[in-house]
Amino acid sequence: MLQSVDVGSRSLDSYSQFMGSAVIEELRATAAPLSGVRVLHVNATGYGGGVAEILRSEVPVLRDLGVVADWKTIAAGDAFFAITKTIHNALQGDPRGVTKEEWQAYEATSNAVAAQLEESYDVVVVHDPQPLALPHIRGRGDSVWVWRCHVDSSQANPQVWQRLRPLLDDFDAAVFTLGSFAPPDAPINRIEIIPPAIDPLSPKNMPIDDGLATSVLEWIGVDTARPLLVQVSRFDPWKDPLGVIAAYRTVKQRVPAVQLALVGSMALDDPQGWKVHRQITSAAADDPDISLFTNLTGAGNIEVNAFQRHADVVIQKSLREGFGLVVSEAVWKGTPVVAGRAGGIPLQLPDGTGGYLVDSIDECAEAVLGLLADPEAGDRLAAAGTELVRERFLLPRLISDELRLIASLLG
Ligand code: UDP
Repeated sequence: MLQSVDVGSRSLDSYSQFMGSAVIEELRATAAPLSGVRVLHVNATGYGGGVAEILRSEVPVLRDLGVVADWKTIAAGDAFFAITKTIHNALQGDPRGVTKEEWQAYEATSNAVAAQLEESYDVVVVHDPQPLALPHIRGRGDSVWVWRCHVDSSQANPQVWQRLRPLLDDFDAAVFTLGSFAPPDAPINRIEIIPPAIDPLSPKNMPIDDGLATSVLEWIGVDTARPLLVQVSRFDPWKDPLGVIAAYRTVKQRVPAVQLALVGSMALDDPQGWKVHRQITSAAADDPDISLFTNLTGAGNIEVNAFQRHADVVIQKSLREGFGLVVSEAVWKGTPVVAGRAGGIPLQLPDGTGGYLVDSIDECAEAVLGLLADPEAGDRLAAAGTELVRERFLLPRLISDELRLIASLLG
């Protein structure tokens, strides 16, 4: 039910090549008083989606800083994750509610998970709704409890929110990506705003040269001599893959050589993925220049790295979004992004930086066409975006913000 993820330890110093040693030294000073503090992160899955991505990078560095950090995931079946996906969607405003039977199943799994949480921690950080009931069921003990909500919950479905809201009474603080994401009546005194970050050392983001990126893509069947549009996302309706295909079709009328790759991971906690995968397959069936890649057919971190680096334009046409790590991942690699004006994406693409924000399929197609016609303009945007990511969206900044919060909660 509750599974430890083995991640080892990684030196913070290796990040100084990206941001200079002053930032690193400051972070060490912030962490010093927390040496030996026991911190547990709990989320739903060890791979697939942004939360797993962040924890895989963050937990090893916390250990290097002297924090006794653990990461555990919920090993439950599809039925539980189907319910928690409904809850996740409802937090994002989806009107579909949760039935009585589904709440009972949610509670039953939460009880089983809580029973396995035997060790005591100074701080437990619970990510998103899947482990939300833990302190309620288990009792707070001597721990400080933090809810790290990655979802825009500002317009949560009232039926679901009324049910989740009492669970928040047991938390000391809640962390959101943007101030506007917090439900207005969240019963928590302390609300912190901390945007996520990417790890420049991970295989997905590490520097690789153009030759290697090209070889990787050719090996998996991409024609690297022709223009390439890429969206990297879970197969999820909020990521609007069908809208991406529609925008690509408009672009294709003016740039016949263009190709589209949709790269999507199948997250363990996202049973909706296969349904969306089938919709995309049928929408793309008539066009051999649209390709689908998944982690299950070998599109892992290095492939994503190569796609984001080599693409002429990365698209992220989200309709709703938490943060959208993929946006920072792409601009960090020098690739311009055309993305939906949703959730945390505008934080990453302020005017003249990184790419363009769009509100429709037509705007998306126009922005992509503009970048294909003027690659130097795209390079300039991406270069400004890279600097913004360096300053605001790299892992050490995230760890620093979180450690400051933990220090203040522990008093
Ligand atoms: N991702 C991946 N392979 C895929 C699709 C997504 O590795 O086929 C990664 C992506 O690179 C990013 C994360 O999953 O690091 C998705 O995070 P994001 O914040 O963009 O969206 P979320 O899935 O959390 O809604």
